[in-house]
Amino acid sequence: MQPEQLGPYRIGTRLGRGGMGSVYEAVDTTSGEKVAVKVLAAHLADDPGLKARFRSEIDTLKELRHPAIVQLLAFGEDDDQPYFAMELVRGMTVEQMIRSGRRFTWRETVATALAVTRALKVAHNHGVVHRDLKPSNLLVTEGVPVGEGVKLADFGIAKLFGGAAHTAQGNIVGTAEYMAPEQAAGQGIDHRADLYALGLVMYAMLAGRPPFRGGQVTEIIEKQRHTPAPRLSASVPGVPPELDTLVDRLLAKDPAARPASALALARLLTAIDTLVPEGDSAGDKIVIADLPGTAAPEAIDRPMAGDRTTLAGLEGDQIQPPISRAPSDETSPSSSRRADVTASIGLTAGPHTSPRSAPAPVAKPDPPDDTGMATGQRPTADDPSPVRKGATAGFREEITRMPPDRAAATTHVGGGARSRHTSLADLDRADRARQLHVEQRQAWWQGALAILLLAAVIGGGWALLRPPSADTLYARIKAVSNDDSRELRDADDLIRRFLSLHPTDPRVAEVAALERTIAIDRLERRTRRKLRSERLLAPIERDYRAAMTREQDSPSACLEALQAIVALHPHPDSETTTDVADVALWIELTRRQIARLTPLAQEEQQQDLRRIEDILASADSLRIEAATSVDFLRRDEALAQRKTLLQSIVDTYSSRPHARTAVQAVEALLADQPAPSGQSPPPATQAPAPGAESP
Ligand code: ADP
Ligand code: MG
Repeated sequence: MQPEQLGPYRIGTRLGRGGMGSVYEAVDTTSGEKVAVKVLAAHLADDPGLKARFRSEIDTLKELRHPAIVQLLAFGEDDDQPYFAMELVRGMTVEQMIRSGRRFTWRETVATALAVTRALKVAHNHGVVHRDLKPSNLLVTEGVPVGEGVKLADFGIAKLFGGAAHTAQGNIVGTAEYMAPEQAAGQGIDHRADLYALGLVMYAMLAGRPPFRGGQVTEIIEKQRHTPAPRLSASVPGVPPELDTLVDRLLAKDPAARPASALALARLLTAIDTLVPEGDSAGDKIVIADLPGTAAPEAIDRPMAGDRTTLAGLEGDQIQPPISRAPSDETSPSSSRRADVTASIGLTAGPHTSPRSAPAPVAKPDPPDDTGMATGQRPTADDPSPVRKGATAGFREEITRMPPDRAAATTHVGGGARSRHTSLADLDRADRARQLHVEQRQAWWQGALAILLLAAVIGGGWALLRPPSADTLYARIKAVSNDDSRELRDADDLIRRFLSLHPTDPRVAEVAALERTIAIDRLERRTRRKLRSERLLAPIERDYRAAMTREQDSPSACLEALQAIVALHPHPDSETTTDVADVALWIELTRRQIARLTPLAQEEQQQDLRRIEDILASADSLRIEAATSVDFLRRDEALAQRKTLLQSIVDTYSSRPHARTAVQAVEALLADQPAPSGQSPPPATQAPAPGAESP
C-alpha cells in the first residue's frame, strides 16, 4: 500500500519503483507545489543498512546542485518512514524511451552525454561517484530536447570517496549491465566507473541495447570484466568515427585507458559535436520512432564556450556497414527487465534483498523496475511500501523546521519523536543564518582586535610619553656630553627635562652646570652672528664684542679688554640691571674667553718683546755707525734708518699693553735723535733693557 501523507506531502500516483522503494508524485500541502517523493519501502526501513543507504542518498543530493541533477527539496521521516522530496520531472526515463523503440541520433546521444557529464563533474567534484548510472536513472523532461531535459537521478548507492561503504567488503552493488569491470570485480572504484557506465548508456542510446547481456548476472559480470565491447560502428550506421572511438575508450576495461575525468570527457564530446559537420553521418537521420516530446535534432546542447579541444587524438575508425538488427526480444519488456537486474553478490543489505531473506550469492532477476514516470499509474496491490497514513495521525506529522544551526537541525527530532521534516530551503536558511553567525563572530573578533590595537597604541603612547626616570635621562645626557662627535646642546632637551622632573636628584648640580655651558655656548654663537641692530645690544654685550674684535690683532689686547669687563662687574648676580642680557652669563662667557686667551697672550708678549729687542739692537748698531762715521752722507743715512726702525716699534706695539714700557722708552730715544749732518755728533744713548721694560 502506498502512503497517503508523508510530512507535508499528500502522496499521489506512483511514478516508479526501484530497488529501495517507490517514487510518487505528491503535492506539498503547505505550498501546493507538485513534487516527487521517494520512499524507502516499509519492509526495508527496518534494515539499518538500507536505511543508511537511503540517508546517504539524501546526504549526497543535499550537496549537489546542477540543472542535470534531480534537485532535492526536502527530506524527513514520518512515523519511522524515511522519505525525501525532489523536483518532479514530467517525462520518461531514457530506459523507457529506449524500450519504447526510440532511437537516438548520434547528436542527441552526444548532447545527452554532455549534459550527464557535466552533472557527473559536479558530483565528482563533491567526491561523489554515482555508481549506478544507467538509462533508468536518467529522467528526461517531456517536451524538451533530450540533451537539455535530461536529469541524473537515484544517487541511492552513490558513495563518497573515503566515506563508509554500506556493504561489506567484496559486495557488489549496482546494475550488472551498466557496471564497470572494476566494480563488477568488487574492487575499489573511482569516478572513472561512472565514465564507463556513461559509455554503456551512450552505446544503448545508439544501439538500442547495452553491449553485454546474458541471462545470468554472473555472465554479464564476466563479460564486463573480460570481453571487449563490440564497436558501435559494427551495429549502428552513421556514427562518426570519432564518437565510435570515444565510446570504445569509455568502455576500456582499464580505467586508466578511459578519459581521465568528466571534464576531459566533456571536452571530447564538445569537440565531436562542434567539429563533425552537420549531416555528415547517416545517424542524424535514423529516427525509428520519435516519441512526442523527445529531442529535436537541432535542439541539442551547444558546445561550451572557450572549449579548445580538437579532434586530434580521436582516431577515426572505418565506418562499418550497418548490420541489420531484428527488433527481437532484445527490446522486449522481459529482456529489459533482465537488463535492469541489480547484481547483489554476497549482499547483506542489497536493494533487492529482504532483510528477512538469506543473502543469495547471485541475485535473481528482479520485479519490474520502473513503472513509468508521471504517467498516472495507480499503485498496484503488491506495492511493497505499505505505509498507511491517517490511522497513525496521532504521532505523525511533527514537521520540524530547521533551527539556525544546520548540524543541530539534521539531528533534531520533532515532538512526535518518530517524525521530522527538513526542507532544502530550511537548510539554505540555516546556512545563511550560520553564515550570518560566522560574519557576526568575525565582526566581533574584528571589533575586539580593533580595541586591542587601540589599547596597544594608547599603552605604547603612554610608555613613550611617560616621564623617564632620572637614571635614564642622566645616562642619555652623559652619552651626549661624552661623545666628541656631538654637541652638548643636543642634550639640551634632556637636561631641561632632568632638571624639571627630578629637581631633588643629587646630580642636579652637575646637570645644571651642563645647562649653563649650553647657555654660554649659545650666547657665544649669537655674538658671532651678525646682529641686525646695534640698539639691541646690552652694554656688557657691546663691551664684550668690542673686546673680542681685538683678538685678531692682539690676543693680549683682547685679554686686557676682557679683564676690564670682569673688573667692571665684580658681582654680576646681584646686579639690578634691566638689560635683556643676563650679566652673570656674560661675565661667565668673558671669563671663559680670558681662560682661553691667557696662554695665547703670554706667547704673544714674549714674541713681541723679542722682536722689539731685535729692532732696538739694529737701531743701536746704526747709532754707533753714525757716531763713528767720518762720511756725513753715510752718517745721515744711518741715523735716518735708525729713526725708521724706532718709529716702527712705536707704530706697531703702542696699542699692546705688555709693550707699553718699551714703547715709551723708544719714544724717548726718538726724541733724542741726533741732528742730521753738519751738526755735532749725537750723544751716545743707552737702549732700554727689554726685559726690564716688559709689563
Ligand atoms: P531506485 O533507487 O528505486 O531505482 P529511482 O530514484 O531510480 O529509484 O526512481 C525510480 C523511478 O522513479 C525512476 O526510474 C523514475 O521512473 C521515477 N522517478 C524517480 N525520480 C523521479 C522524479 N524526480 N520525477 C519523476 N519521476 C521520477
Ligand atoms: Mg533507479
